[in-house]
Amino acid sequence: MFKALMVEKDEEGKTSASVQELSLEQLPEGDVTVAVEYSTVNYKDGLCIGPGGGLVRNYPHVPGIDMAGTVEASDDPRYKAGDKVVLTGWRVGEAYWGGYTQKARVKADWLVPLPAGLDTRQAMAVGTAGFTAMLAVMALEDHGIKDGPVLVTGAAGGVGSVATAILANLGHEVAAVTGRPETADYLKSLGATQIVAREEINAITRRPLEAETWGGCVDAVGGEMLARVLGQMKYGASVSAVGLAGGAGLPASVIPFLLRGVNLLGIDSVMQPYDNRVRAWARIAKDLPMDKLEAMIQPATLSDLPELGRGILQGQVKGRVVVDVN
Ligand code: NDP
Repeated sequence: MFKALMVEKDEEGKTSASVQELSLEQLPEGDVTVAVEYSTVNYKDGLCIGPGGGLVRNYPHVPGIDMAGTVEASDDPRYKAGDKVVLTGWRVGEAYWGGYTQKARVKADWLVPLPAGLDTRQAMAVGTAGFTAMLAVMALEDHGIKDGPVLVTGAAGGVGSVATAILANLGHEVAAVTGRPETADYLKSLGATQIVAREEINAITRRPLEAETWGGCVDAVGGEMLARVLGQMKYGASVSAVGLAGGAGLPASVIPFLLRGVNLLGIDSVMQPYDNRVRAWARIAKDLPMDKLEAMIQPATLSDLPELGRGILQGQVKGRVVVDVN
């Protein structure tokens, strides 16, 4: 028997989450059984621990879009007992049972080997949020980061914190947008050189172009903030669109694309091909300073998850939660 966080739905459609004992026979089919060591809490996890946000297919459900642990048994030649592995994406934790469990059974295709230089706890401090932050930085690099500060929106959140630390470590000036002024010292400790108040940048302006200010942007917020940021980008600069913490709409004008050659780059972590996953994890191990990662960590256990799920949906979680499932 082992423990997992189970989300159940009652006849009225109301969901509730609790830690329960399960047996191996209850696990779904898969090629690899993983003894999970750590998981984490991303924005999407908040949805799946709670009412589901349309992401969860069937109940009862084990959420947790990320996991890291040790292979216990494998029917796939790529993995053997004792291998350390990481899993993010592939709709695990949404359409399939996820990482809020001491044992998981998964498809070998979903796994990547734990990157050299990281342990399972650090890998989950990174998690989908940090992995996506790295993909966003790599996309900016591929299109060329211009001179001047790189803007990070939703900076005190998971994606934003990791993006800030990576960009600063790569030698870029980082302007961090936050709605929580009390996180300024934290963001500076991660390497932000400038703190921008959320109110300064999230109001719609009638002007499609403003002063050319940012050499690149990692945007976790979307909505009106992204629309506004597009008009503030330097000539030829790029924005990696990662998230929708501020809304899924984009009330923007095409003028920044037409007159300034601004690029809007879509970033998806879920269906990312294997080779690029391995490339991104290797870059994380190289370019994300581990002391900065440590400063982002808030430790938790399985029983803390219902409250943390609510918290992340309300924008109250700072940095990265690491869930010790044991
Ligand atoms: P977090 O909740 O940790 O971070 C989001 C941050 O956005 C908050 O901390 C807050 O930062 C800011 N924010 C929240 N609400 C608003 C608002 N109404 N207006 C402006 N800013 C706001 O979430 P994650 O970092 O885990 O994820 C961030 C986003 O990225 C989510 O939308 C998530 O779904 C998406 N995502 C997308 C992925 C992909 O593959 N494309 C993968 C991972 C995440 P502050 O307090 O500093 O203002």
